[in-house]
Amino acid sequence: MHPLQNAEFVLSVANDDQLPPPGAPEIAFAGRSNAGKSSAINALANRTRLAFTSKMPGRTQQINFFRLISGALVADLPGYGYAAVPQDLKRHWQDFLGRYVATRQPLVGLVLIVDARHGVSQLDVNLLASFLPSARPVLVLATKMDKLTASEQRTAANAIAAGLAELFPLHSTQFRIVPFSSTRRIGIEAAETAICDWLQLEPPTPERTERGTKEKAPRSRGVPRGPKRPA
Ligand code: GDP
Repeated sequence: MHPLQNAEFVLSVANDDQLPPPGAPEIAFAGRSNAGKSSAINALANRTRLAFTSKMPGRTQQINFFRLISGALVADLPGYGYAAVPQDLKRHWQDFLGRYVATRQPLVGLVLIVDARHGVSQLDVNLLASFLPSARPVLVLATKMDKLTASEQRTAANAIAAGLAELFPLHSTQFRIVPFSSTRRIGIEAAETAICDWLQLEPPTPERTERGTKEKAPRSRGVPRGPKRPA
């Protein structure tokens, strides 16, 4: 199935004590502001305005929850790194998000949206450092791939994989990196397959092209097991 299709907005949450009681499995979407998170959620949901809900005034600084057809929840975490936010508010948000990803019991996986041209940012690294000790998986959507040539796409995906392996050598098996583009719909099927796996749902059936042949899903990349040691 397409796990995010027909998702519906449920609620916005600004503090730990407003989080919905643990129940249905939850997947979280995180990323630097402007990385392409809303576009990725909308592309996966096959909607134009779903995550737009999260961009409404008052909602950009909250965790926005969506309910999926399967009953699972998507938590759209506020984009971080936005320069115009005052320092103490930024810290409040980083602490809240860090606590959420570290301790949220129903969370089964984290989808991290990274602009493929810029790679993983320090704030992404901070969030991963909070999340990874729980041993749960991370799907990195390396997005805006349509802005890169084929060889630049490979270089960008490899650089993200190598960077994460170097930063988190003990957690390499938790990462899956998928080259992605919301506008060109690259990587949708690979992302859906990973999300279905987390939620124990049937994976999507491959889309058919106009000529009736099955479209090949882009290969996702695992992270190499650790940095190469000097000889
Ligand atoms: P968010 O702040 O992380 O939610 O980012 P948005 O989804 O709002 O995207 C930020 C900007 O990047 C917008 O101008 C989008 O149109 C653009 N964008 C997002 N995803 C893609 C993509 O896959 N390809 C291209 N070319 N532009 C994208």
